[in-house]
Amino acid sequence: MSQFFEVTCDHCQTWGLFDYRYKCLRCADYDLCARCYKFGLRGVGHDVSHPFQCLLDQGAMELHFAGEPIPDLCADSFTCPNCGELGFSADELMAHVRIRHSDARTAVICPLCVAVPSAHPARVDNLLSHMSIAHHHNPGGGFRLAGTEPPVTHHVLPTSEGPQVRFILPDDQSEEEW
Ligand SMILES: [Zn+2]
Ligand SMILES: [Zn+2]
Ligand SMILES: [Zn+2]
Ligand SMILES: [Zn+2]
Repeated sequence: MSQFFEVTCDHCQTWGLFDYRYKCLRCADYDLCARCYKFGLRGVGHDVSHPFQCLLDQGAMELHFAGEPIPDLCADSFTCPNCGELGFSADELMAHVRIRHSDARTAVICPLCVAVPSAHPARVDNLLSHMSIAHHHNPGGGFRLAGTEPPVTHHVLPTSEGPQVRFILPDDQSEEEW
């Protein structure tokens, strides 16, 4: 994970983006610093309707996931590059793209690829087929990056204990009086 992003803001031309980086998911190479994004400042050659993926550097991740395990991807949630909807987990985004944008053919940058530290993914024409090839979807096992260790599967052992049978003895039998 990088200490900061070695990119230039395409609006204010600041080099080296700290904490947050906003990457356009439609343009091949378009980034904004947190300040320009926040104030709605946009450079030329970029349509204001383009969705952005927010990426977090090392410091921002530590702040965001304080005390929790830090994920491999430098994002806490994902943006749909087709409709701009925010706040998806990796699995949710893949399900969303499958349901809502199965026939979309807009050139977009995959938010999951872009969140791999120091990756510079190219645009893809068919996000759905890209995702189904490049990103494994393990039902119940969550999302994993290609090349990382598969998640540990916890096998549920069949229980050896059958239902407990109790014998209920009639009580006070011996004290019966004749
Ligand atoms: Zn800027
Ligand atoms: Zn753009
Ligand atoms: Zn969408
Ligand atoms: Zn991808």
